[in-house]
Amino acid sequence: KVKKDKMTILVLGLNNSGKSTILNHFKKPNEQSAIMVPTVGFLVEQFYTMGVSIKAMDMSGATRYRNLWEHQFKNCQGIIYVIDSSDRMRFGKKSIECNCVVVTSFTLGLPVVVKDELDLVLQHPDLCNRTVPILFYGNKSDLEDSLSNVKIAAALGLDNIKDKPWHICSSNAISGEGLDEGVQWLVQQIR
Ligand code: GDP
Repeated sequence: KVKKDKMTILVLGLNNSGKSTILNHFKKPNEQSAIMVPTVGFLVEQFYTMGVSIKAMDMSGATRYRNLWEHQFKNCQGIIYVIDSSDRMRFGKKSIECNCVVVTSFTLGLPVVVKDELDLVLQHPDLCNRTVPILFYGNKSDLEDSLSNVKIAAALGLDNIKDKPWHICSSNAISGEGLDEGVQWLVQQIR
């Protein structure tokens, strides 16, 4: 049984999706940093929200560090998966627009697109047989060309996730819109 003061939530997602900005939102005002530095490796943050203390690990989407953050899968009770809903270039091979060219971006020499990355997480041996809830943030929803939750879910095949509770929430990490609602769902799933 998970003690509610001992929740570990992993915050995953490609670089630039908004992970650091989201974590910053949950920190106390005096702990927030105005300037975000790109996440390298991983960053452990502890914050208190919705009546629970959450230990969040912000793992860089960089494939290079995968073996570091994979170790955390065993111990986590929930996952926040941050998606840049305006980053159509990296959405994945099952592309959003029917006439879109297949685009794969390269990070550190390896192809990293959202769907590939997510599938690797979902298929990981330490996660595939567990009912770990996954909260998706369709972040940057304020941007004009951002995709709706329905389109994101279709592009990433979220309906195929049958063994884990999941939820997608639009968010604007800069204004904070949608962030609390999302975490509320996640905390309810874990409790
Ligand atoms: P990380 O690499 O996933 O940690 O991404 P960051 O948190 O560093 O964010 C990357 C960039 O996107 C920064 O310039 C943020 O200010 C910006 N950003 C993050 N969330 C949002 C959002 O909801 N809307 C907009 N417009 N920009 C965002």
